[in-house]
Amino acid sequence: MSERVVVTGGAGFIGSHLCETLLAQGASVICVDNLLTGAEENVAHLRANPAFEFVRQDVTLEIRIDGPIDAVLHFASPASPIDYLEFPIQTLKVGSLGTHKALGLAKARKARFLQASTSEVYGDPLVHPQTEEYWGNVNPVGPRGVYDEAKRFAEAMTMAYHRAHQVDTKIVRIFNTYGPRMRLRDGRALPNFFTQALRGEPITVYGDGSQTRSFCYVSDLVDGILRLLRSGEHDPINIGNPDEVTILQFAREVIALTGSRSEIQFHPLPTDDPKVRQPDIRRARERLGWEPRIPRAEGLRRTLEYFRERMKRA
Ligand code: UDP
Repeated sequence: MSERVVVTGGAGFIGSHLCETLLAQGASVICVDNLLTGAEENVAHLRANPAFEFVRQDVTLEIRIDGPIDAVLHFASPASPIDYLEFPIQTLKVGSLGTHKALGLAKARKARFLQASTSEVYGDPLVHPQTEEYWGNVNPVGPRGVYDEAKRFAEAMTMAYHRAHQVDTKIVRIFNTYGPRMRLRDGRALPNFFTQALRGEPITVYGDGSQTRSFCYVSDLVDGILRLLRSGEHDPINIGNPDEVTILQFAREVIALTGSRSEIQFHPLPTDDPKVRQPDIRRARERLGWEPRIPRAEGLRRTLEYFRERMKRA
């Protein structure tokens, strides 16, 4: 019998790619989403598949699913800085109450559990690149605190269920990820830069653009997550592409790729914006045999195709 997997946030950017890959590998998938920041359109192409089920539920209230479950992947959460500014309480609730409900479901069904965590647990990091041993530098009362602290709480809750209830848990710390199905108005650097470049509008670089990020193509991330799910690991594992770039350089790459005439316009840096970010992926390499495969130039080309097509429809 095939695996039956619950993906919370399954209609989101990363969640929808997980649902798709799990189905392709022969699993049955129950996608749970309240569509706060997810979109039914992201999973519309999966609905004809009898192994796929979409359930509209707010996981902070309850997760009601009948039948056996082999794994629960908790990916529900707003994930863009502008989203957690708009939905601060929902962000805190899905990381805390939602994680509790998802863990409760996994415990009751003796299912494996995988928590989507984030490089934001490292805050504005004082250790570079970030190893999993680093405890982070997070401002709990700043605007990003609602996301960072909810995810830190989620990690603590996950480890507590593992230690106290022997749930087979895993924690993935996801670094900046990009690819098709990012929302056009998601507010993050890549969707902003692509939509601005394609419309010939100014490219909004925050601060002086010297802050760095390391961007991972979504198929590499999904590969890492599914290896982790099938591993015996319980410690947090960074999954991201260590190829680090300044935001200014990234903006220039988008302009060059799109052939846009857009100019770069500098705007104030958001509060608590991390100055550097690069995953140390030694643990993923050693314990999962995982390595990112898609270079940024290739990933950006694939993503551009999506943005071109999506903007035509919008
Ligand atoms: N950023 C930018 N212009 C934008 C959107 C974001 O310069 O229009 C910057 C942002 O300040 C940050 C980096 O790009 O330094 C990555 O931001 P994003 O929101 O994509 O992700 P995160 O800050 O969560 O890594």
